[in-house]
Amino acid sequence: SIRAPASKKTATLLVAVKCRPLTEAERRRNRNIIQVIDDKNVVVLDPDLSKDYLDRIQNRTKEKRYCFDHVFGHACTNSDVYKGVRSTIAGVIQGLNATVFAYGSTGSGKTYTMVGTQNDPGLMVLSLNTIFELIKNDRSSDNFEVSCSYLEVYNEVIYDLLEKSSGHLELREDPEHGIVVAGLRSIKVQSADRILELLNLGNSRRKTESTEANATSSRSHAVLEINVKRKQKNQNRNQILRGKLALVDLAGSERASETNSGGQKLRDGANINRSLLALANCINALGKHQKKGLAYVPYRNSKLTRILKDGLSGNSQTVMIATISPADDQYHHTVNTLKYADRAK
Ligand code: ADP
Ligand code: MG
Repeated sequence: SIRAPASKKTATLLVAVKCRPLTEAERRRNRNIIQVIDDKNVVVLDPDLSKDYLDRIQNRTKEKRYCFDHVFGHACTNSDVYKGVRSTIAGVIQGLNATVFAYGSTGSGKTYTMVGTQNDPGLMVLSLNTIFELIKNDRSSDNFEVSCSYLEVYNEVIYDLLEKSSGHLELREDPEHGIVVAGLRSIKVQSADRILELLNLGNSRRKTESTEANATSSRSHAVLEINVKRKQKNQNRNQILRGKLALVDLAGSERASETNSGGQKLRDGANINRSLLALANCINALGKHQKKGLAYVPYRNSKLTRILKDGLSGNSQTVMIATISPADDQYHHTVNTLKYADRAK
């Protein structure tokens, strides 16, 4: 039997912003920083107002100000970001679902935030670490089984990133597990040790294509799903709880129209927008749900939202991390990202 604990009744949504540091290349090109961050606010300064930084700081009437649950500045590490979202995933070993996704334009730091590096591991790695830590410290005599899958949605087609050359995978409704990706590889894991290696290998299989916006713009959504199966040892019966954590590295959010690309790429762009739009609509509905109670959440409109459904509905917890670049030449992308994130609140 499968059961979700009744302790938390509504979905919760947390919106955070991460502004990355300037890259070496941006430093060499003398890019200016256009964000000012204080506590939970981001202030974005229009780079066209004045070339003088101090002038712009004082010209507060033309600035755009946004407030979020968390705002992480350029000096914050992935561990700092993780501290802000950690509580959201604690329920996964209790049979609750959660979703964490990174949204932002290409080059804003989505993959860095989700996957990270050896020295600064990202949220996918840190979350898995926490799950094993929680299991280790669990006082019950329950049995736990942790498994991972890693897929991408490209052009509304699902591919397995844990397979060398994956074919198209289809979604199925399973009476026991809900919506599942048929044939998707799922590997049992005992620790978070090799996960970064696995993610990097999976990422090397992602569909990338150069656009004018960026040399290697990621055109696909990557979803790491961590499944925790908990076999409860009660006196008279064995109960199974299933918790699911989805960590999503979304495709670049820049619009197809802005990347000046035609043919195949334009179709990619349209589909990416379809998934992102569908996700935005679901997130909006969730926000309303949180404030006013029941609202219809339109999950069926894209592959991505169907895959994420369990982690966005019921009593699940959702975290959106909007990633932004500090550089002045990314001003429009930054404002678009913050608007998207602001609407989600
Ligand atoms: P995206 O996945 O959104 O396209 P990336 O994660 O690839 O962007 O980041 C773009 C560049 O910025 C990369 O060179 C990456 O190493 C760097 N970067 C992103 N976030 C950080 C950060 N928090 N600290 C240091 N470098 C970062
Ligand atoms: Mg990326």
